[in-house]
Amino acid sequence: MNIENLLKYQKLDEELYRVEQKLVNSPYKKKATELANIAKKSQTKSTELETEAEKLISEIEDLKQKFSINKAKMDEMLNCDISSLTLDDIEKFNVLKAKIISNLNILEKMLQKSAENINLILADFNRTIKTFNEAKSQYSNCKQKIDEESKIYEPEKNRISKELKSLEKDVDVTLMNEYKKKRQDNIFPVIVPLENGTFCGRCRMELPKVAISRIKDTGVITCEHCKRFIYMPTK
Ligand SMILES: [Zn+2]
Repeated sequence: MNIENLLKYQKLDEELYRVEQKLVNSPYKKKATELANIAKKSQTKSTELETEAEKLISEIEDLKQKFSINKAKMDEMLNCDISSLTLDDIEKFNVLKAKIISNLNILEKMLQKSAENINLILADFNRTIKTFNEAKSQYSNCKQKIDEESKIYEPEKNRISKELKSLEKDVDVTLMNEYKKKRQDNIFPVIVPLENGTFCGRCRMELPKVAISRIKDTGVITCEHCKRFIYMPTK
């Protein structure tokens, strides 16, 4: 099979590849990816903080309820007439009262701590939302720059694509389709020469003799390692 036309095609396709690479490697593109990651992380974090806050709020409700139960018990005891109680009962009464006072103290401290935690979560939440908004706004700036860059190269890309289209006609259909598939998988160059009659011209993997002997019949073989087409260069 004649692969000269495919090589000619690839030579021109390399120009297109270079333009594409310029766009892919644009600093704006890298920045946009970074910003998208930051935005995504911030979003996850804000959801986590919301869940945490909800849990804490329900804990606070629980503490408040316990506090009011203890408080009611305390009020009841303060209004109790102990003059009619026996010494033994007074002793029990005092033990219980001390226990309730201790409970109220503990619950008050816990409520205070929970309030502090809620404030910390809220501050963290606000910071996270701020980070998210900043990343989002910077991302849209980046996106605009990327679009501008892409527009600059558009005429060149169109010109090459048009020329490629006309070269395409001279290449074997199956080979062309395979080439395009590999190209889409970001493989470039797609077709490389056999090196020293033994190695893949790209990844330098040694090819089995049986495979090499097939090049003459099929025009190309596929490197099992880097998936490129390998052709026999004319000496
Ligand atoms: Zn290879």
